[in-house]
Amino acid sequence: MTIHTGRHFLQIPGPTNVPDRVLRAMDRPVIDHRGQEFAQLGAEVLEGVKSIFKTKGPVVIYPASGSGAWEAAIVNTLSPGDRVLMFETGHFSNLWRDIAVRHGLVVDYVPGNWRRGAQPEDAEHRLKEDKQHAIKAVMVVHNETSTGVASRIAEIRKSMDRAQHPALLMVDTISSLGSMDYRHEEWGVDVTVGGSQKGLMLPPGLSFNAISEKALAANKSAKMGRYYWDWQEMLKPNRSGFFPYTPATNLLWGLREALAMLHEEGLDNVFRRHDRHAKATRAAVEAWGLEVWCEDPKEYSSSLTAVAMPLGHDADKLREIILDAFDMSLGTGLAKLGGKVFRIGHLGHFNDLMLAGTLSGVEMGLRLAKVPHKPGGINAALEHLAASHQRAATGAQVAEAALR
Ligand SMILES: *Cc1c(COP(=O)(O)O)cnc(C)c1O
Repeated sequence: MTIHTGRHFLQIPGPTNVPDRVLRAMDRPVIDHRGQEFAQLGAEVLEGVKSIFKTKGPVVIYPASGSGAWEAAIVNTLSPGDRVLMFETGHFSNLWRDIAVRHGLVVDYVPGNWRRGAQPEDAEHRLKEDKQHAIKAVMVVHNETSTGVASRIAEIRKSMDRAQHPALLMVDTISSLGSMDYRHEEWGVDVTVGGSQKGLMLPPGLSFNAISEKALAANKSAKMGRYYWDWQEMLKPNRSGFFPYTPATNLLWGLREALAMLHEEGLDNVFRRHDRHAKATRAAVEAWGLEVWCEDPKEYSSSLTAVAMPLGHDADKLREIILDAFDMSLGTGLAKLGGKVFRIGHLGHFNDLMLAGTLSGVEMGLRLAKVPHKPGGINAALEHLAASHQRAATGAQVAEAALR
């Protein structure tokens, strides 16, 4: 076994690096979840997390991985036999579709090539055809983590409005929440599904449903069986900061700290940081002469970049070499992309030098694995990072001068 020194580079697109501040915040004795100290913590995080979804409505927090919140969105709003409209964007849309099918939903699945997002025109066309309003929900993965492609949720909302269709809009933001611009209320989303272990910088184990009034109304007549996921069971005790069953107490301390960190930086700055890192990463990929998997620049993800391997080279072999030589984990190609792409996660608790280290590991790995590429990827990335820093610094000076 190779002995590694220093810190492991966890550059998969989730779970992501957990800040020391969050680790320290969780490092405390477990408290009574029926006591007053807990009620204060519960009330604080249940209220605080709304700002990340950009909603004033309720957000429920499950002690569960993201998949639990996927299932919760379905069983709380729909009945067996209901039709739903979904879009094939990649591995994660496939999984959500499978959950829907297992629950007896009839899924209209718009096929996709895994290199593009859900197309607003497709949504509009399908919904206009559905004159009887048989489709009860439109379900979209915002940031498809298997491909690095982001769907344009605001535009999908507009296409639903143009079709004057009353379906619910449900969106998976597990790998975009807290790293890419997202607005539950403004975009008219009815259920937003989130998870703790990606942009929120927490360990795995919490997931979320942000719920609109329309979704709450649908909940009243939704006939799917539910107990653990039942919003009503949650919302009642949540009013006083409590949970119906044992919550993930220490993760909630971590959530409190992560929310504080996101607000100290400012959400818009968090999004700008992710955009910058994504651009610098793409600059490196292009300079290497490799291909960014996402086909449409309008749909580039800011939380991860999937890179296509040159034909005849195995992405998992490259990942294995990089892990062994440089102690860095990169994301594997999922399902049919196995071996064909590797994914660089640049979301969560991350900075310029961490990105420079990450890309250096990739470039050295390409060399060790004898993957044909051009040198200069690192330089291209550093150029972008430095130039965008300079612009930001100049901007700040201009603003300061204006104040004087
Ligand atoms: C990670 C992820 C999931 C799955 O979440 P789990 O916590 O593994 O259950 C679902 N959707 C997207 C877009 C993801 O990135």
